[in-house]
Amino acid sequence: DVVTRFAPSPTGYLHIGGARTALFNWLYARGRGGKFLLRIEDTDRERSTPEATAAILKGLDWLGLDHDGEVISQFDRAPRHAEVALELLAQGKAYKCFSTQEEIQAFREAAQAEKRSTLFRSPWRDADPSTHPDGPYAIRIKAPQDGETVIRDQVQGDVTIRNDQLDDMILLRSDGTPVYMLAVVVDDHDMGVTHVIRGDDHLNNAARQMMIYTAMGWTVPVWAHIPLIHGPDGKKLSKRHGALGVEEYQAMGYPAAGMRNYLARLGWSHGDDEFFTDAQAKDWFDLSGIGKSPARLDFKKLENICGQHLSVADDAALLQELLAYLDVSGSDPLSDTKKTRLAAALPFLKAASKTFPQLIEKATFALIERPISPDEKAAKSLDDVSRGILKELTPHLQNASWARDDLEAAANQVAEAQGIKFGQLAGPLRAALAGRSVTPSVFDMMLVLGREETIARLTDATA
Ligand code: GLU
Repeated sequence: DVVTRFAPSPTGYLHIGGARTALFNWLYARGRGGKFLLRIEDTDRERSTPEATAAILKGLDWLGLDHDGEVISQFDRAPRHAEVALELLAQGKAYKCFSTQEEIQAFREAAQAEKRSTLFRSPWRDADPSTHPDGPYAIRIKAPQDGETVIRDQVQGDVTIRNDQLDDMILLRSDGTPVYMLAVVVDDHDMGVTHVIRGDDHLNNAARQMMIYTAMGWTVPVWAHIPLIHGPDGKKLSKRHGALGVEEYQAMGYPAAGMRNYLARLGWSHGDDEFFTDAQAKDWFDLSGIGKSPARLDFKKLENICGQHLSVADDAALLQELLAYLDVSGSDPLSDTKKTRLAAALPFLKAASKTFPQLIEKATFALIERPISPDEKAAKSLDDVSRGILKELTPHLQNASWARDDLEAAANQVAEAQGIKFGQLAGPLRAALAGRSVTPSVFDMMLVLGREETIARLTDATA
């Protein structure tokens, strides 16, 4: 059974690249009835913070990437990592190295001067234990010294490393703390991880991690090292390209479904398909569709895909997501009346918006309260003549059934009687109902606002 994992280091926000890595692992597992696990790589005690862990969990939650089982803390598992180092020591696959920092430094300097490889070769690798001093020691793995290590990567292909380029890396430091490389392998093994999908900045680590798998006789997981995300200019993604943290995308009001779709397409493809549902993504996602070259972040594309997701979103779910967006963006909670109006407006607003701010902007008419102060342009369209016409319209609306056809008939009847085109009536109507000159259709607005509020707004405008 497939088991994937996301293993972020909690040193900041959830990076957009990390979010994509999580998404790929999630899709791979979810599409195969497998498990998607979450491990927080918090062994760097200086840089890891609980706030960062919370931000990562929040980001994953917003993106809808649910994990299976408990969140695992790598730091908490340090005793188990040490146990494996001692096991390798007992098996003679690792050794105690008593070399001091100064000795290692001296070795490197000499090697450099003689233009030899500066990889440290410990004199203790084959030393007789009876010669061991009492002092502190690190536990080093016995790296293979000749031949090659081949990493069968599902994205990069076979990557071959000459073993004489591998040193006897430390597993357990002299203070008893395990190194990161050991922790990753032990955790992935113990968690039963079958597929490791992660950034290709970890490809070099794979060769060293492989040594540990081999020494322990453990099955090596399937590896897929994915190219990092680049900015629109093709350069490595950095702050100057814009938002890096997932929470910034949430704050910009991209719907999570659109974000998932866009991130899935960022470095992975399924033919020419740009827009797809979660179900399709889970069904289609495969390692063979991951590209070998870095994908470029493209905000225009992100927006378009988000727009497509908004237009097909389920109204009830969309309302909840919209309210959550308003909440994180610091807006006051909506009154029940406004919520009801917003809900009623969603079916037509969602088709015309790509992001939540765009949608909210179009929903202004539903979210404002009387008395409405029209903006400059709207105020101009409410001249005496227009107000007279709106006054004519009001009794017709009093008597209209609140069905669209009837509202249209009432408006047309008044326009005809006044000898004007409906268009000339629409401007003042928009101004009266929304206080602006650009709004959704006047009939859509009336339907959302209802008779009482519509007439009250018209009465205000013509008073
Ligand atoms: N903690 C590593 C990172 O955040 C990931 C290590 C891994 O996936 O093996 O880059």
